[in-house]
Amino acid sequence: MKQIVIISGKGGTGKTVITGAFAALARDKVMADCDVDAADLHLILDPEIKESHIFKSGVTAFMHRELCEGCGVCKTVCRFDAVKKDFTIDPVSCEGCGFCSFACPQNAIEMKTNISGELFISDTRFGPLVHAKLCIAEENSGKLVSLVRQKAKEIAEEKNCKWVILDGSPGTGCPVIASITGVDCAVIVIEPTLSGLHDAKRVLDVTEHFKVPVKIIINKYDLNFDMTEKIENWFKDKNITILGKIIFDKEVVKSIVEGKTIIEYSNNQVAETLRTIWRLLEQELKVAD
Ligand code: SF4
Ligand code: SF4
Repeated sequence: MKQIVIISGKGGTGKTVITGAFAALARDKVMADCDVDAADLHLILDPEIKESHIFKSGVTAFMHRELCEGCGVCKTVCRFDAVKKDFTIDPVSCEGCGFCSFACPQNAIEMKTNISGELFISDTRFGPLVHAKLCIAEENSGKLVSLVRQKAKEIAEEKNCKWVILDGSPGTGCPVIASITGVDCAVIVIEPTLSGLHDAKRVLDVTEHFKVPVKIIINKYDLNFDMTEKIENWFKDKNITILGKIIFDKEVVKSIVEGKTIIEYSNNQVAETLRTIWRLLEQELKVAD
């Protein structure tokens, strides 16, 4: 089984369109949306949720007002200024250390488990999809990404799949690291702009650090031929394979609006290029169709 992740230096480069196309082209696969902060693979794959699991992370102090005698000990011991003047707790500032709960002479402070999000296992027309939703203002998305990946891998092993296809998180933060560690290949999607190249270099620093093999797709390359050439040369110098270059085509946006992958929506040049890219990826990773 091969795990591939599609990533980019920032959001909006077309990585989900490419992930959707791979989902349509690959046989025997499980898909996972690791972009838990802004999940949108479901917009194309139209999942039917079969299972959902609450994602818990950390604890927060909660004061039971009826038990409190107003001694102020909790406010004194809290190093994070999370106890307000009326001794109630500000959940945003609370770091969950538990000192106040330990120190309260009235046992008025309870440490409650946080519900940070939800993880879903769904059926789609292309096979199983594992995806998740992080609650607003919640952190720990790296941990949720790891859970999504673990579930996807379990399903793939159970079903003897050839592929786990991951829509990765953009950027270089904790969720990206959770998306890429241990995969067989990270496909970096780049747009032909100076900032696109700059962002891709930052992502490459992360993949190199974690020793993840990388391949490149340049998306909307015809919007800036000079920059495309610079990007190609830069990656060729580093001996990194460029899987292909995709043109800009408004049909792609229309396919998203229709909730379809570009492979299903059209036989245009974008779809044809993506077919070629997928075949090349299969060859490079030595996966027989
Ligand atoms: S330590 Fe307990 S009793 Fe004292 S103010 Fe805080 S919550 Fe109330
Ligand atoms: S759990 Fe720690 S951080 Fe939170 S209110 Fe209590 S002492 Fe402060």
